[in-house]
Amino acid sequence: MTIIEQLQHAKSIFWRNPHKVNWQEAQKKLHITPELIDEAEQRLLRFAPYFQQIEPMTKETNGLIESPIYHAKNLEKTKVAAKEALWLKRDDLLPIAGSIKARGGIHEVLKIAEQVATEHKIIDENRDYTQFNDDVFKNLFSQFEVVVGSTGNLGLSIGIMSAKLGFHVTVHMSHDAKQWKKDLLREKGATVVEHAGDYGKAVEKGRKEAQNNAQAFFIDDENSTALFSGYAVAARRLEKQLNEQGITVSEEQPLAVYLPCGVGGGPGGVAYGLKTVFGDAVHCYFVEPVQSPCMLLGMATGKHHKISVQDIGLSNLTAADGLAVGKASKFVGELMMPILDGILTVSDDELYEEIFHLYTSESIKVEPSAIAGVMGPLRSQQQAKTHLVWLTGGGMVPEIEWEKYKVIGEKQK
Ligand SMILES: *Cc1c(COP(=O)(O)O)cnc(C)c1O
Repeated sequence: MTIIEQLQHAKSIFWRNPHKVNWQEAQKKLHITPELIDEAEQRLLRFAPYFQQIEPMTKETNGLIESPIYHAKNLEKTKVAAKEALWLKRDDLLPIAGSIKARGGIHEVLKIAEQVATEHKIIDENRDYTQFNDDVFKNLFSQFEVVVGSTGNLGLSIGIMSAKLGFHVTVHMSHDAKQWKKDLLREKGATVVEHAGDYGKAVEKGRKEAQNNAQAFFIDDENSTALFSGYAVAARRLEKQLNEQGITVSEEQPLAVYLPCGVGGGPGGVAYGLKTVFGDAVHCYFVEPVQSPCMLLGMATGKHHKISVQDIGLSNLTAADGLAVGKASKFVGELMMPILDGILTVSDDELYEEIFHLYTSESIKVEPSAIAGVMGPLRSQQQAKTHLVWLTGGGMVPEIEWEKYKVIGEKQK
């Protein structure tokens, strides 16, 4: 059976990436360098005093938008081999947006804010970035608009951050975006435009609108290096967190990381960052819904963003709204060719079941998109000293919505 035929069956599968090479070889094939991460890391440090002022949650992390890692001792019993450890990366706890989008999305908004402020020469070199909270900055930013297309979480992070800085912000959302996400964004002061089509259509509409407005900045989830580099910074901070827990990573004691994938920027940025830190000692896997395996389809066929899941008869409909993407990022798939170990697909039933399981074993509540990585260790059969499942979101899900996930998950048992 060809890989396309396997995907068309919409059953959970595992694809091992035949194009992966060792890190030394891989670097020669990449058209980006770690300086991209340096730049994002420095920018986030410049804004740290600002965050300490506007968001009390960031006091503990000295103004960094960062999440803890957590040793899942109960879940570990059923999810990894004996003598292997299972850790969770708690991006559901990230300040401001409660999902992995608080990394890339916020970074790109800060980049825009810094650029506009620099061009208008209002940054006082003798002061730290708490000045971005001054009226001079807010008044300037109110003359500009930030535009984005999103299935939900990217819209939340861009919408909340842009509004906070004083920008006008418009979020173009797809039909499958959750109502509570739209309501929350409007409450935060964003304009929400709803579209009948899927995520790709919402992005297209956003891009068109921004092109017609000289004062508008379009955040392009399908192409953005500012998003990508914001995500990648996570890897350097993770190295420090693992050290603090006494976890060593080496080729003899490898780390395996499992990342839910939508358009690819989030998991791609993190995976690239991890490679620059750990090289061949880290193994990275993506996880996609059975109806939205855009990255797997793009990488396995070599067609990347030029093929969509609809082209092979899949619906792109999934409970994992953050992963409901029909076509992969324009550059992430190519970048992942020599790096990524593999991709697995998961069904909505499995996602709900695992949400319930995570809650009963560890008392952690996440959203469907965020749990996808948990099936990674067993499916990939990757041997590792440490397995890290990236929980990518769920921090903003209202209690009443989460109860619905739980009820469905309980029935799957
Ligand atoms: C967006 C998102 C992802 C995937 O990120 P992409 O950049 O779209 O690949 C994973 N999990 C959650 C919860 C998300 O919101």
